[in-house]
Amino acid sequence: MEKTARIAIIGGGPAGLSAGMYLEKKGYENYVIYEKSGRVGGKCWSPYYKGKRYEMGAIMGVPSYYAVHDVEEFCGITHDGPKLNRNYKNSNGDVIEPFEPKKNILKIPRLLKMKKQVKKFGEILETKYKGYDVNGHRGVAQGKCDGYAVTPFRERVQFDNPNLKDLALPFKTFCEKNGCELVQDIWIGPFTSFGYGYFDEIPAAYVLKYLDFQTTMNFVKVNLWTWENGTQYIWECLNEKLKHGAKLNSDITKVERKDGKVFITVNGQVEEFDKLIVTAPLYCGDGNRGETNGFVDYADAREDEKELFSKIDYERYTVQAVTTKPENHPEISYYVFDNMTKERLGHLMVYYRRWKENIDQMITTYALRTHKDMKEISYEDCNKVVLEDLKTMHNPAEEIHNAWSVYYFPHVYTEDYAAGWYDKVEAMQDKYDTFYAGEIMSFGDMDETAEYSRELVERFF
Ligand SMILES: Cc1cc2nc3c(=O)[nH]c(=O)nc-3n(C[C@H](O)[C@H](O)[C@H](O)COP(=O)(O)OP(=O)(O)OC[C@H]3O[C@@H](n4cnc5c(N)ncnc54)[C@H](O)[C@@H]3O)c2cc1C
Repeated sequence: MEKTARIAIIGGGPAGLSAGMYLEKKGYENYVIYEKSGRVGGKCWSPYYKGKRYEMGAIMGVPSYYAVHDVEEFCGITHDGPKLNRNYKNSNGDVIEPFEPKKNILKIPRLLKMKKQVKKFGEILETKYKGYDVNGHRGVAQGKCDGYAVTPFRERVQFDNPNLKDLALPFKTFCEKNGCELVQDIWIGPFTSFGYGYFDEIPAAYVLKYLDFQTTMNFVKVNLWTWENGTQYIWECLNEKLKHGAKLNSDITKVERKDGKVFITVNGQVEEFDKLIVTAPLYCGDGNRGETNGFVDYADAREDEKELFSKIDYERYTVQAVTTKPENHPEISYYVFDNMTKERLGHLMVYYRRWKENIDQMITTYALRTHKDMKEISYEDCNKVVLEDLKTMHNPAEEIHNAWSVYYFPHVYTEDYAAGWYDKVEAMQDKYDTFYAGEIMSFGDMDETAEYSRELVERFF
């Protein structure tokens, strides 16, 4: 592609901004990033309270966040935030230590079995499922590994491994098939409570590409990155550093692709481009439940785009930021495993205390409102339940300061995954002078989305 190509990027979150960075690094400087809202960062949203920033969206990273590290280097910043720590409570609000054998004499056989299974699982992933962890989903449904290794050098890897087809199975079934069902006790902490759904519905591919063995062990050991000024700051810094920062408050009403050009109507003006990269949601449901609209709603979507994108579902992940009376402030963040089952949909799964030294700060709460086989819990009902749960946890809220329910972790289910959904979409890259990136193409975290943008630029530009 000519380096002078005019490229539009829809979305000023991690995927869109890092697409801009990698394009620039490769010599493509004629790009424009359109962001619908009045700020960059997307689901990295770190508002201020009394001079400090708290997290309404992304919180943490791990040392294998290589794309985020590229951004840090590009901007001259680092992960300088408060150290994370956590404890556990049951649904009655009692502190528990579920992984401590001495505190769970009756559970010792299960804990020992789990430990063995975790070791076995690690070995199986490295051998039987070699190549499971590369970014993106190209070839997986056909039993192929096709991507870049998860190392700072991102070596190109391409080989056949028919076992990889198993990654289309729901994670629960995948674990059972491999005789490792107890590993779910470990994987669930940074998965379900982080809003990514339940193991009986979500294909193992998503679980394991995000929570590869190394990343899961980093969560277990609390070897995690945070940013003092919040995750939003990473993307604010990148936006500042880019030759063309995102155009905020861009209202795109039409995208028309014809005669090898892309015409975008934005804030009433028509702009002409050679190529388009979409990092914003492609599809948001049938309109009855969508909190936002998708690419298919404002673009001249073709039949294959409509058909494939209509298979996308997403989580409704609900966050509230509250303050408490000093005597009710939690001394640490808590995970509530009892509430991470679909029977307890809509309940508080984790609450996060960010600032150790300062109790006049926000506590953020997290709950899921959807499971594919269940009736969705309304946003209002969910928020009420969570506030009741905080009382049960002995940390009642005094005042609610902020809340949102986000379009979160777009994904497809087992049947479509196994039928090669990703290979069909990958085969459509550039077909309509359009490239698809963002969470759906890899996974809903900062690094996987930024890494996918890196690979997209590497592969096509
Ligand atoms: C509560 C919560 C906790 C999380 N915790 C973590 C964590 O600890 N670690 C981690 O790595 N990740 C975490 N994530 C996930 C992470 O924030 C997302 O995966 C990441 O932000 C995705 O980047 P993206 O650019 O693909 O999408 P987004 O961040 O959603 O950005 C998309 C952007 O596109 C814009 N947009 C949408 N439609 C249009 C349109 N029509 N025109 C123009 N612009 C448009 C949006 O306004 C938005 O700015 C968390 C997210 C949430 C909500």
